[in-house]
Amino acid sequence: MSIDTTHLSALKDLAGDKAWSDDQDVIAPHVTEPRGKFSGKTPLILFPGSVTKLAKIIAYANQNNIKIVPQGGNTGLVGGSIPDLSGNEILINMKRMNKVREIDALNHTITVEAGMLLSEVHSNADKIKCQFPMHIASEGSAMIGGNISTNAGGINVLHFGVMRDLVLGLEVVLPSGDIWNGLTGLRKDNTGYDLKQLFIGGEGTLGIITAATLKLFPEAKQKNTAFVAIPDTEAAIKLLALAREVSGDSLIAFEILPRAGLEITAKHMPGCRDPLENKYDWYILLECATSMQSDLLNLEEVMSKILEQAMDQELVLDGVVAKNISEARTLWNLREFMSEAQKFEGGSIKHDISVPVSKIPEFLRVATKVVEDAVPGIRPIPFGHIGDGNIHFNLTQPKGMDKQEYLAKWEDINHTVHEIVTSLGGSISAEHGIGILKAAELEHFKPEIDLKVMRDIKKALDPNNIMNPGRVLR
Ligand SMILES: Cc1cc2nc3c(=O)[nH]c(=O)nc-3n(C[C@H](O)[C@H](O)[C@H](O)COP(=O)(O)OP(=O)(O)OC[C@H]3O[C@@H](n4cnc5c(N)ncnc54)[C@H](O)[C@@H]3O)c2cc1C
Repeated sequence: MSIDTTHLSALKDLAGDKAWSDDQDVIAPHVTEPRGKFSGKTPLILFPGSVTKLAKIIAYANQNNIKIVPQGGNTGLVGGSIPDLSGNEILINMKRMNKVREIDALNHTITVEAGMLLSEVHSNADKIKCQFPMHIASEGSAMIGGNISTNAGGINVLHFGVMRDLVLGLEVVLPSGDIWNGLTGLRKDNTGYDLKQLFIGGEGTLGIITAATLKLFPEAKQKNTAFVAIPDTEAAIKLLALAREVSGDSLIAFEILPRAGLEITAKHMPGCRDPLENKYDWYILLECATSMQSDLLNLEEVMSKILEQAMDQELVLDGVVAKNISEARTLWNLREFMSEAQKFEGGSIKHDISVPVSKIPEFLRVATKVVEDAVPGIRPIPFGHIGDGNIHFNLTQPKGMDKQEYLAKWEDINHTVHEIVTSLGGSISAEHGIGILKAAELEHFKPEIDLKVMRDIKKALDPNNIMNPGRVLR
């Protein structure tokens, strides 16, 4: 059953001129996701330009039981931002709602609309010599509303926290069409349930975020980046503890890269090369930053101290320290292009898991053995935010194997790896969310009582199940 044309016309009228399209060429880039794992279709995409217009659209959709998929930059990695294949879901893309509502420099807050690109939030913060510290490789395309809805993480979580820690207030259009104005710059507010937290990480299943008040921090005046070789993953977590202690808590990023990942990144990605002469099994990219001037705290000296002590303790075997921003960028490219480089090596089965930092070596040891036994020749490329206990446990296909035959193993391998993660007290989704991709796994691994509370909340806010149905909760 398709959506009645009278409903489509009514939605177009409510959105207004130039705020909708039913042209499939315009719609096409909005109905596949970045990895190409999911695709969908829709007869209509809306680009609302104001909260009041959006509220009227949602009220109409609710009254007429029309399903809605909210969309930001469509960089999400779990299939939650595109419609399904039924053609019965309307896309609402937030790109036209992209203004700064308020900057309060003395309160260290910025209030922006949900369709603002994350990179634009950064540049607006720069203008008042502040920083918004969430950084992800997709920041030039991802929108702040999408970042909030996925509770995004990124490379600076170690110091600044996830999106949940960075949002002070929200404005949301609820599935009823009501507008909840929870925009506030308060850091302390103990007046009952913290409603904004329902929508942060809600993946568009409880309402559409239209604006947010975000925390800002003083801009970094110094940054120091090092790329070091380590003997094994046990050394990685000891180095993390050492660096945190010695750096006076100025450590903001701590990422792990395996040799196999470095090799394919250097092979396929322009401008990338192994910065060290000798070969090692594992590497750490670490970065310290501070808003202090160098005469008060010299980060070069801090990094030297960390590396000196780490070499004494045989936690570091070799390494380079970036001498300037451009060298630091080159080192970061090795990390940020690692996912992209895997595409050149055939199929890749992905995981976005977290375990307590202290359990990372055990997770890597056990999970690597299990997948190597299951698929001889498989090429594990585990990399990422080890400082947060978050590993992108990506598995490149064996050389010469048929790609589709390999990718057909995705669910089985995911499930096996998730069993290991769960046994270590970890999470099957550290930062990418659940979407469609992991809805079945969530049902399997989340305790029944958690699922019941989640379903009760969903029913209370969205009794007609119009808002991103089937994502997160099936
Ligand atoms: C190269 C690359 C690198 C990445 N690196 C990271 C990383 O380091 N850390 C990380 O956490 N993620 C990362 N991601 C994943 C992705 O960028 C994040 O999940 C991002 O937060 C999604 O933002 P978006 O605007 O693209 O949202 P979309 O993909 O459009 O949507 C994501 C989800 O949020 C919902 N949604 C979007 N906007 C709204 C809104 N206004 N109100 C309610 N719901 C909404 C959608 O329905 C969907 O369920 C990466 C992705 C790529 C392609």
